[in-house]
Amino acid sequence: MTKNNQKIRFFRERIPTFECKQGCHDCCGPVTASSEEMARFPVKSDEEHEVALAEYNCPYLGDNGCQVYDERPLICRLFGTTQRLPCPNDKRPTVMVSTKIEHQIHRFLAGTRQLLL
Ligand code: SF4
Ligand code: SF4
Repeated sequence: MTKNNQKIRFFRERIPTFECKQGCHDCCGPVTASSEEMARFPVKSDEEHEVALAEYNCPYLGDNGCQVYDERPLICRLFGTTQRLPCPNDKRPTVMVSTKIEHQIHRFLAGTRQLLL
């Protein structure tokens, strides 16, 4: 396993999960991910990317929600778990992500090449 994959796994295990408002995808939009995360997603055509971007949407948001939920990028996992990325529907985990982990994640995002989904 590469160093980045190890870090991604480390962060995933430390970002708290919580239950969303049913059927809600309000926080989905154009997001970025590392090439290691991207490699786990099914390939989308250029057209699918263009259509999604034109609607300020994510190409992996389908009729039944996120099509890559189990492999969704770190930034999607972080959303709602910190006061800096609050859920507009007031959903949150019982315990928010630790400040230390949040900073480490942002350092990781800034230090890796991020690709638009
Ligand atoms: S975090 Fe909030 S805005 Fe995002 S999908 Fe869940 S309920 Fe909706
Ligand atoms: S990857 Fe999934 S959770 Fe993240 S923005 Fe796209 S549809 Fe939403």
